[in-house]
Amino acid sequence: MGRVYNFSAGPAVLPVEVLESIQNEMLDYNGTGMSIIEMSHRSKPFEDMLNETIQDLRDLMNIPDNYKVIFVQGGASQQFAAIPMNLMKNKKADYILTGEFSTKAYQEAKLFGDIKVLASSEDKQFSYIPDCSDLDVRDDADYVYICENNTIYGTKFKELPNTKGKVLVSDQSSCFLSEPIDVSKYGVIYAGVQKNVGPAGLVILIIREDLIRQDLDIVTPTMLKWHTQVKANSLYNTPNSFSIYVCGKVFKWLKSLGGLEAMKARNEEKANLLYSYLDSSKYIATAEKESRSIMNVTFKTGDKDLDALFVAEAAKQGLISIKGHRVVGGMRASIYNAMPKEGIEKLIEFMKEFEREHLK
Ligand SMILES: *Cc1c(COP(=O)(O)O)cnc(C)c1O
Repeated sequence: MGRVYNFSAGPAVLPVEVLESIQNEMLDYNGTGMSIIEMSHRSKPFEDMLNETIQDLRDLMNIPDNYKVIFVQGGASQQFAAIPMNLMKNKKADYILTGEFSTKAYQEAKLFGDIKVLASSEDKQFSYIPDCSDLDVRDDADYVYICENNTIYGTKFKELPNTKGKVLVSDQSSCFLSEPIDVSKYGVIYAGVQKNVGPAGLVILIIREDLIRQDLDIVTPTMLKWHTQVKANSLYNTPNSFSIYVCGKVFKWLKSLGGLEAMKARNEEKANLLYSYLDSSKYIATAEKESRSIMNVTFKTGDKDLDALFVAEAAKQGLISIKGHRVVGGMRASIYNAMPKEGIEKLIEFMKEFEREHLK
């Protein structure tokens, strides 16, 4: 079997060029006579690669000098605890709930302090992003938390919430590097890389310097303190060297395609193709129009058995992992940076055929 079109939400599709380049270097990285995954993380070739990777990310995202970039392990889920542990001075934080991951982050934060829900879209199964232009942010809140793109529900913040001057913390796992953003509007940005960037097991954090605090009276394990990895340039202990290396290759790939402006144009074109077909079809798009994600597209037929048939038939055509998350059902096409336009075209072609045969 050749390459399929992989619509998985994560781990997810990576660029073929990147996979080939990894394959080419598997036995001999850059004349070292060994693979990058066999190499000491304290060696010069590795450290050079790490520093170049950080610099490429800084260039791509235009990260201001007063922000630090670190790579940590434990997945995005570990940051659900690390965030309150690193930011809670007053032990108060305000959360906006727009899906599964922000709810999990909220529940975890409650272990550490007084957490307020500022807004929620749970009333309509997280199918939209609530109006966040005038929220009741507490004066002494340490930060306001959002999950910017809701991987499971297929929604995305089109405008950042008005935090009334408080620090904004954003989980960008499923929209990281999908379009340009203004880093200076955030206190902390973090992303598990397995959605849009690289192999699972790595989290990238971009943290404003003054938020790398050491004056909190919370007992925080050394490994969970951001300061530990900032001070050690992400080499406090053995990092996920392979994932960092692949992310570095993806950053170069993004640069070669023209950076994040070009990515945004590509991603919008792909998403518009799929959404405009969805809106003209008998399928039901599950996220409200104004809140739609350009990374995760959720839809259903309106009939559970037909949904299951859709997923099975799609797989036979090489359209893989299109089943919706178990909490929502239906279908979800994750169309990250590395999904080519041809994948969307083939999906639409299949959807049309399925519609003619089964949706009356
Ligand atoms: C997948 C995902 C997570 C969880 O990531 P893990 O690395 O599995 O912990 C958190 N937030 C968002 C937005 C995600 O898409």
